[in-house]
Amino acid sequence: MDQNLLFTLALGLNSPWKVVRSGLEDGGAESRFLYVDIEAEAGAQMPCPVCAQSCPLYDHEVKRWRHLNFWQHPTYLSARVPRVQCPEHQVRQVTVPWARPESGFTLMFEAFVMALTREMPVAAVAELMAEHDTRLWRVVRHYVGQAHAGQDWSGVQAVAVDDTATRKGHRYATVVVAIDPPQERPARLLFMTAERTAASVGQFAAAMPAHGAKPAQVQLAALDMSAAYQKGIREHLPDAQIVFDRFHVMQLAGKALDEVRKHLQHEGAQLKGALWALRGNESRLSQAQMELRRDLCARHKELGRAMALRESLQETWEWPEAASAESHLKAWCSWAVRSRLVPFKKLAQTLKSHWAGILADYPHRITSAAIESIKSIIQTARRRARGFRNFENLKAISYWMAGHLDLQIPSAFTHPI
Ligand SMILES: [Zn+2]
Repeated sequence: MDQNLLFTLALGLNSPWKVVRSGLEDGGAESRFLYVDIEAEAGAQMPCPVCAQSCPLYDHEVKRWRHLNFWQHPTYLSARVPRVQCPEHQVRQVTVPWARPESGFTLMFEAFVMALTREMPVAAVAELMAEHDTRLWRVVRHYVGQAHAGQDWSGVQAVAVDDTATRKGHRYATVVVAIDPPQERPARLLFMTAERTAASVGQFAAAMPAHGAKPAQVQLAALDMSAAYQKGIREHLPDAQIVFDRFHVMQLAGKALDEVRKHLQHEGAQLKGALWALRGNESRLSQAQMELRRDLCARHKELGRAMALRESLQETWEWPEAASAESHLKAWCSWAVRSRLVPFKKLAQTLKSHWAGILADYPHRITSAAIESIKSIIQTARRRARGFRNFENLKAISYWMAGHLDLQIPSAFTHPI
């Protein structure tokens, strides 16, 4: 078979497009690349890119696109792309079936880039493909932006609003996650914005209509206890019941325990390895960490009390109904107040002033796992976007990893023009 015909078929080109020249060429420094030149058959009329009516050709422009590698060789398509003279839209460049307008990559190359960036850092993909990462970021932002813009939020009734660190040096972003308490479907990252204020919630509410949704449909909002988000919900999602979920309450208990540890250390106690041994549930610890935890709690009575308080607080959510949970929480608060541990006394005060919101977790029972998993995905995304210091890139990769997007990328050049 003729080599040009082979490439015409392999690329899935249809009339009037066909490969007219192809071959390997020296790219310098012992590297070679495959060139594939495409032309439209002479005499063809072509559709106007705006109105699709068949128009006479006006002139041509040579354009070039990076395509998937041919074996180990980078491959470039180039084509004399016609411009048509449309009676209505004047002179316009026709659309080619293998690439988006304005892109220097073919659709198949872009589909490959998107598949890789879902799994590995963009900088690593850039190195692998010998491309500049800013060009790849442009591809990621394009497809993610398009898929996110078309996302349907009309079924969203419950959200979690949270902050997350966007880089070291304490820049924070707000994330809004759709949660589904009864069926425990995986959480979906809906929205991300660069601040953490009441207005951040307003920005989410303002984005809802474009996604076929309205603020009044949100019935439940899980929050941390920061005043900013409570204000934001009252102002912008007024029909939502505010819930301070287990995850956020236990996060505060973890901080209180850590303050007790720091205080002891400050007073000269030897607490090597304690930071990790005291964190989280026992089931997550190694045998050695668990033994260290028990040893530390036995040797330092304050730590033992703090640990017992944290574990007891956790039991609040094991009660099947709100009334039992409330009794448990009341008993816990009076214990915490008598504990002679300042951080836990303060925590009891905080819980008392957020009482209704904590108990509002019944009957919905928001799973902390959903919120926790999104936050950890964003932290992974943050590491992947490192070095770019560009919030738009972080946002794009976070939506791509946690937004359940339906990406519209043709994987082959199947549609004839
Ligand atoms: Zn036209």
